[in-house]
Amino acid sequence: MACLLCGTEVSTFSSVSIANGRICKDCASKVPEIVMENAKGLYDTELKIFMEDADEKYEEFSVTSSLGDLHIDELHGLFAIAKKLDANGKPKNRNIFSIYELEEVGIYCKSPKVNNHIVFVDIEFTFTLTKPTFSKKVIVERNARCKTKKSDATHVTWEEPESLNMFKTLFNNMLEGGLQKMQTLLCSKTVEAYELDKARALFMLSEDYEMEDLNRAKRLMLQVYHPEGSGVTRESRIIEKAYYLLANDYKNRQRGY
Ligand SMILES: [Zn+2]
Repeated sequence: MACLLCGTEVSTFSSVSIANGRICKDCASKVPEIVMENAKGLYDTELKIFMEDADEKYEEFSVTSSLGDLHIDELHGLFAIAKKLDANGKPKNRNIFSIYELEEVGIYCKSPKVNNHIVFVDIEFTFTLTKPTFSKKVIVERNARCKTKKSDATHVTWEEPESLNMFKTLFNNMLEGGLQKMQTLLCSKTVEAYELDKARALFMLSEDYEMEDLNRAKRLMLQVYHPEGSGVTRESRIIEKAYYLLANDYKNRQRGY
């Protein structure tokens, strides 16, 4: 049988079982470890997406803050789950995800325990990714010490650990920053801007073309795609439309828009 991701011939022993077949151990090692734990429920098409950008994220990742096994890179909008980071400060296990893939995320205190009038909690991190859909709950820190007050002889009141509080703020800042970035990305590429990009590509013009460049490009295009006397064709319409867009863009640029 063959690995569903790379096509290499594999045996049962040299491969890992996934929802619709098997993949080789080499491919498996390129998928985030935490995802591979659920590999039996995932299809090759889904695993392929995780595998494809894992290297890129690994290269990019640079920790800005950590809470137990949870690390964030506020600059790139990435988060990672790893017990240990390698010499370059990166998670070898490839458990790096982008906030742009997130659908839901939460950090909670679980199972409070009292010891010598001090409350300790486990910190659980949960997240859900879209495309491909994937959910996970991980305890990122055990027995984190909480701010505890003795309210009377038998009761204590407690608040979440200071470190968690701070980390939550940083994580939220990263999410908000990411959201803003996403909105600017969407705004900067309107349909018009996209059409203009296409037109420039068609006429092989750079962004700062002059009117003469545009006219020369149009003449050339018509000579090639629309010889004299061939009437209105699909090609001539495309060329005219692109010319119209670019001429307008040029005028706007002159007016300083
Ligand atoms: Zn493979």
